[in-house]
Amino acid sequence: MVEPRPVLEARSLRKSYGERVVLDVEELQVMRGEVLVVLGPSGSGKSVMLRILNLLEEPTHGTVSFDGAEVQGLKGRERVEVARRMALIFQDPLLFRGNVEDNISYGLRVRRMHAAERARRVSEVMELVRLGGMGQKYIATLSGGEAQRAALARALAIRPEVLLLDEPFASLDAPTRRTLQEEVKRLLTDLGMTAVFVTHDQEEAARLGDRIILLKDGLIEQAGRPRDIFYEPKSEFVAGFVGFDNIYQARITCTEDGLATLEVDGHELEGVCASDSGSLVKVGIRPEDVTLARMGDAGAGSARNVLNGTVSEVEFRGPVARVTVACPFPLIALITRRSLEELELDVGVEVQARFKATAVVVIEP
Ligand code: ADP
Ligand code: MG
Repeated sequence: MVEPRPVLEARSLRKSYGERVVLDVEELQVMRGEVLVVLGPSGSGKSVMLRILNLLEEPTHGTVSFDGAEVQGLKGRERVEVARRMALIFQDPLLFRGNVEDNISYGLRVRRMHAAERARRVSEVMELVRLGGMGQKYIATLSGGEAQRAALARALAIRPEVLLLDEPFASLDAPTRRTLQEEVKRLLTDLGMTAVFVTHDQEEAARLGDRIILLKDGLIEQAGRPRDIFYEPKSEFVAGFVGFDNIYQARITCTEDGLATLEVDGHELEGVCASDSGSLVKVGIRPEDVTLARMGDAGAGSARNVLNGTVSEVEFRGPVARVTVACPFPLIALITRRSLEELELDVGVEVQARFKATAVVVIEP
C-alpha cells in the first residue's frame, strides 16, 4: 500500500513580525482531497498561515513542502510556478472591472490557453458555480454572493491542485452564506478538491471541514475530526469557542463503571469520566443538550441529571431561544422558540432542566 502523501506540509513553522511571534506550528499536513478547516478567533494567525502556504509570505523559520518538495523561500519564476498550482480566495472577491467572463478567463489567458478551449473551460466552471448565462454581466452589478461565485469560478478555472479560502463568506448575509457553504461543500467533494478553508465561525467549520485545526495566538490548540473538536474539546478555550456555553469547575466525588458523580457548586451531576475520585476538573455541557420541562412534567427519559431552577434570562436568536436557568448555578439551554411558547417559559418561571450523563463532558482532567 502506498502511504498517502500530503499535498501541502509545514514543519516547525514560525512567523514573527519584529519581536512578536504570530504563528508557531510544529506540524501541519493537508492531505489530497480533504477539506481542512483552520478555525480560530480574529488575530489567531489564520491568514498568515494561508499566505505562507500560498508563498505570498516567507516563514521566519521552518519548511513548507508542496507535493513533496520544499518550496519556502523560492523566488521569481520558481515561486510563481508553484503558487500557480494553488488558488486563493479572499473575503472580498478579488475581481477587476469588466464582465464575469473576462474575470474568469484571466488566469487562463495568462497561462496562454487557446481561445476555444478557454471558452469551454469558462462556461464549464460558470455552470459549476451556478453562474451559467451570466458571463456578460458587469462585475459592478453583481450581488455579494454572485461576486463570490465569480471569484470561485475564476479560482477553479485554472484547475488548482489546492484551493485556499480565507473567510470567503464572512461578509455575506446569513441565507446567502448558508447556500454558498452547502454548494461549495458539494462542489469540493464532487471535484475531489484539496482545500484549506479559513474561518472564525464554528458552524461553518462544522459544515465544511473533513478535519479542523483550531488556532489560538498562533498555536494549534486542537486538531481533529469535527466530532472530536465539538464533543471532546481538550481545553476550556476550545470548549468555549465551539459552543460549550456551560463550563464549570467540578470535583469528582466517586466513579463507578465509567460513570462519575461530579460536584458542581454543591450540586451533584452525573457524567462520563475516567478520572480519579477527588480530582478537580473542568466540565462542559452544550446548551443544545439541555432540555427544559415544566415542574412536575413526567418523562425525564434517559436523562440522569434533573435540576430544578428558575428562568433568569431569555434571549432570542432567530428560531431558537437561549434560556438561562438559575439551578441555582447558571445553566444555559438552547431550545426552539416553539418549545419556549408551548412551555410558556419566561423569566421567573420554575423549570426542570434535564440532560444525559453523556452530555457532561470533562474538558480538563
Ligand atoms: P487572523 O487569524 O485574523 O487571520 P492574522 O493571521 O491576519 O489573523 O494575524 C495574526 C497576527 O499577526 C495578528 O496579531 C496581526 O496583527 C499580525 N500580523 C499579520 N500580518 C502582519 C504584518 N504584515 N505585520 C505585522 N503584524 C502582522
Ligand atoms: Mg484573517
